[in-house]
Amino acid sequence: MTDTFTSDNSMLAFDRQHIWHPYTSLTAPDPVYAVESAAGVMLKLTDGRELIDGMSSWWAAIHGYNHPRLNQAASDQLNKMSHVMFGGITHSPAIELAQRLIEMTPENLDAVFYCDSGSVSVEVAQKMAIQYWQAQGKSHKHRFIALRGGYHGDTFGAMSVCDPVTGMHHLFGDVMPKQLFAPRPACRFGAVWHPDDTVQLETLLKANHDNCAALILEPVVQGAGGMWFYHPGYLKAARELCDRYQVLLIADEIATGFGRTGRLFACEHADISPDILCIGKALTGGYLSLAATLTSQAIARVISNGEAGCFMHGPTFMGNPLACRIASASIDVLLESDWQANTAMIERGLNKGLSRCRDLPGVNDVRVLGAIGVVEMRESVAVAKIQARLVELGVWLRPFGRLIYLMPPFIISASQLQSLTSAVYIVISEGNTA
Ligand SMILES: *Cc1c(COP(=O)(O)O)cnc(C)c1O
Repeated sequence: MTDTFTSDNSMLAFDRQHIWHPYTSLTAPDPVYAVESAAGVMLKLTDGRELIDGMSSWWAAIHGYNHPRLNQAASDQLNKMSHVMFGGITHSPAIELAQRLIEMTPENLDAVFYCDSGSVSVEVAQKMAIQYWQAQGKSHKHRFIALRGGYHGDTFGAMSVCDPVTGMHHLFGDVMPKQLFAPRPACRFGAVWHPDDTVQLETLLKANHDNCAALILEPVVQGAGGMWFYHPGYLKAARELCDRYQVLLIADEIATGFGRTGRLFACEHADISPDILCIGKALTGGYLSLAATLTSQAIARVISNGEAGCFMHGPTFMGNPLACRIASASIDVLLESDWQANTAMIERGLNKGLSRCRDLPGVNDVRVLGAIGVVEMRESVAVAKIQARLVELGVWLRPFGRLIYLMPPFIISASQLQSLTSAVYIVISEGNTA
């Protein structure tokens, strides 16, 4: 089975010299691991080692890899057409997916805009909010309020609403729009709700609503900005404040959507519906890049009656049939499965396996919600060093900052999950994380 890749380190050397990986230096990159194939929850390296996947390829591969139903959907669609332009053309993969999305997302979200990645879906949401106010003669309402500790993507508009510190806003200076930031919600998920938690958000809204288009947030779970789980009471209050101060609410469920938090969408924890919803990541079960921005008919109507007479966006690969077809299959697999039982089992396993890390030196906090587990250290971890040790232990995790976190595919078994949490416990107890 030794292919040229395995036997030849020149492939890795080429990668090292010529290919950027996410958030890396090209001159001093951390090592990368060459994956040859993946199936179920296992990643197979080119050297033959197999790793239990604890990342779902960044929230996406909820059904695991190489899934027969998703493979079948992909090959069926490939044999019809992989892509065709969406301008002036439509097709059943786009229509059937929209039907599913309208049905399964919170109420009133029944106008679907397809795009190619999560960041773009956030840009689209921002443009929808701006055009919505513009169409009503309120073009001064063009700024955004966001939460500290948030993450919304890497393009300029999306980046401008990410946490200004971890998002290193100072690097981009005046090129990036300046937005307004409320503090990170303090009240934890599962703790007692303190209505004081939204006081500063309200102060911001009161002072700035006249030039704000929308509040954007990740409902209940802040992901890449710090893996923080906050009280649904905050989300409920934010919904009310947005209505009171005439500002739209954009929910970024790119990470939380499709069952990850134990609810199909995290907005359900607070029983609210946003004005605009962004989804991506697990939308195709991790097969292809596809995202969508949903809004209401009422908002769509206002935008469509504005000066432009249309919504000003239209990506080349909009509504890609291959991705849409796989997304519908992924949603069917999800809804036909007992995903509530699976995520509840994962939640129990993560709680059981990670809670003992609390007593280890260097650990600041352990938190679990749905199929997400986080061990927060006091100091930043040495990613390359920890990752090497985790690979030795047979698991795939990708810590960042002070966080060692897990979000395995929903199909993981209890024993595989135990191997994951044990590996985390071992690397931390060896005291070699910084
Ligand atoms: C990953 C992510 C994005 C960006 O999605 P990309 O597909 O990487 O552009 C936006 N918002 C949230 C909450 C995310 O987790």
